[in-house]
Amino acid sequence: MISVLEFFRNLPKKKCQKCGLEITEQADCYISICEDCDHPAR
Ligand SMILES: [Zn+2]
Repeated sequence: MISVLEFFRNLPKKKCQKCGLEITEQADCYISICEDCDHPAR
């Protein structure tokens, strides 16, 4: 039986689905793309 801590520890790091950049932990943890891709340079 895997403890809850182990479960979260084994979760893969989130990566931007567009550029593959690792997404740092943020308040909004449901995003799947980085800020750069979420807000393209104008
Ligand atoms: Zn990105």
